Amino acid sequence: MYPQKEFGNSSFKSSWFNEFPDWLEYSIEKDTLFCFYCYLFKPNSEEHGGGNAFVGGGFSNWKKKERLQTHVGKSGSAHNRARIKYETFVNQKQNIDCVLFKKSKRTKEEYRIRLNGSIDCVRFLLWQGLSFRRNDESEDSKNQGNFLELLKWLCDHNNEINAIFLNYCI
Ligand SMILES: [Zn+2]
Repeated sequence: MYPQKEFGNSSFKSSWFNEFPDWLEYSIEKDTLFCFYCYLFKPNSEEHGGGNAFVGGGFSNWKKKERLQTHVGKSGSAHNRARIKYETFVNQKQNIDCVLFKKSKRTKEEYRIRLNGSIDCVRFLLWQGLSFRRNDESEDSKNQGNFLELLKWLCDHNNEINAIFLNYCI
């Protein structure tokens, strides 16, 4: 999925993705790196390890590769707290499905499709360096922001996903 070459004149290597497969995202449009976890569950910028480059404008200081590890930091770091929030977000619903309601296989599969559809949209926005949301996300807004508009586009072009999302507010 990622371009298997070095990018432009920079020394960014696609092999870095192998080192940080869970969170490293490359924005083709901005030629910068982002953190998937911190982008979704933004910590306060002032307490963020290695600055907030991986969240705000993106990171492109190719000569300082060690900043990637600095960004991850120790167990209580802002990045790791964002990671835990993400993992909780993903697991929470699964646990509810399993433990409380003993939902059918079909329901779980639908949940997985909804989650993957949403996450794919987020990743696409990251790659393209697009903003996530806008102020007016109400249902009658003409433009609900990139994320919701992209999700609607995905639904419009995929009957299976559309049928599943129709049952839920997005
Ligand atoms: Zn991060």
